[in-house]
Amino acid sequence: MNKVYNFCAGPAMLPVEVMRQAQAELLDWQGQGCSVMELSHRSKAFIQVAQQAEADLRELLAIPDNYKVLFTHGGGRGQFSAVPLNLSGKNGQADYLISGSWSSAAVDEAKRYLLPSVVAQSRWQDDRLVVPEQSQWKLNPKAAFLHYCPNETVDGVEMTNVPEVDSVPLVADMSSNILSRPVDVSRFGLIYAGAQKNIGPSGLSVVIVREDLLGRARNETPSILDYQVLADNDSMFNTPPTYAWYLAGLVFQWLKDQGGVRAMEKRNAEKAALLYGYIDSSDFYQNRIHKDFRSRMNVPFQLANPELDKAFLEQSEQAGLKALAGHRSVGGMRASLYNAMPIEGVQALVDFMMDFEKRMG
Ligand code: PMP
Repeated sequence: MNKVYNFCAGPAMLPVEVMRQAQAELLDWQGQGCSVMELSHRSKAFIQVAQQAEADLRELLAIPDNYKVLFTHGGGRGQFSAVPLNLSGKNGQADYLISGSWSSAAVDEAKRYLLPSVVAQSRWQDDRLVVPEQSQWKLNPKAAFLHYCPNETVDGVEMTNVPEVDSVPLVADMSSNILSRPVDVSRFGLIYAGAQKNIGPSGLSVVIVREDLLGRARNETPSILDYQVLADNDSMFNTPPTYAWYLAGLVFQWLKDQGGVRAMEKRNAEKAALLYGYIDSSDFYQNRIHKDFRSRMNVPFQLANPELDKAFLEQSEQAGLKALAGHRSVGGMRASLYNAMPIEGVQALVDFMMDFEKRMG
C-alpha cells in the first residue's frame, strides 16, 4: 500500500499505533477469548477500560475534581440540544456567539427550547474573516450560559482567548480542537466534543461538566440527554458506545506516550505554520481568515483559479492525499491537521501543492 495521508475533517485519521493495537486485540482482548466490543458494559473488565479512559482524559486535561466526565452518544449535535435542555431552566435566556457554521447550527437547534441571544457574529474586515473582540459583544448577565465554538471546523476559525464571563457558565463546543493544546478547564461550566476528530471514532461524545450545573434539566429532557442521570450512572444509564470508548482510551494512552497536550500544542503549531507559511508565500493559493483566528486544526484554502479545483482534488487523491475537498457548504479545499496527522503528511501536502502550482500556475 502506498503511503496515504487522510486530511478528512471527521471522522478523521487515528494514530496508526492505536489502529495496530486495536487490530492485534480485535479477536481476543486481554485473554478474554472475545473482543472488547463483545463484552457487557457492566462487566468488570469493561468497567476497567472505561475508568482508565476517564482517568487518562482527566490527567491529560487536568480536569478538576468538581467536574464530571460523561461518555455519551449523539455527537456534537446531540449536545446542541442537551445544553439548552440541561442548563437553561424553563424560560431561560442563553447567549450564543456565532463564529462560523457550527455555532450557527447550535443556535438553530437551541431555538427549539429557548430564544437564543446572539452576542456577536464573525464578519469580513478588509477581506479577512474576524471574530469581534469581546468588548463588542452584547452579553446578558442573566444568561443561563454563554455558548461558543473555539474551533469552527468548516470555516477554519479558531479562538485562542477564552471569553471572560464572570458568573455566567461558559459552554464550549470543542469537537474539533479538544486535546490539541492545554486548556484551563476551570474557566468553563461545560465542555463537549464529538469524538471523531481528536478523540476516536464517531459514535461517542465526551462532556465535561461542572458539578453545580447538574440536576437542572427541564422535566421533558430525554433521560439519555440528562447530565444528572448520566453522571449518576457513570455514563451507563443505557448501553454506551463501548468500542468507541475503548478506542478513545487507546488514543488517550497514545497522547500520554507522546508527551500529552503540551507536546501536541507544539507539534500542531509546527504543522499549521508549515502549511499557512506556504499558502501565504504563494499567489496561487489563499486563506482568507485573519491571522489571529486561523485554525491550527482545519485549514481551508482556495485556488486563485477555481476552475482548477477539480484537477487539484483528483491529482491530490492520486498522490495519496485524501479528502482535501472543502465542506460542501463552502467549497474550495480544506486540510484537517488533527493530533494524529504527522508533520510528514503536511510536508507531503505542501510538496504536492508546490508541484501542482508549478505545473498548472
Ligand atoms: N460541532 C463541531 C465543531 C463540529 O465540527 C461538528 C461536526 N463536524 C459538530 C459540532 C457536529 O457533530 P456531529 O456530526 O457529531 O453531530
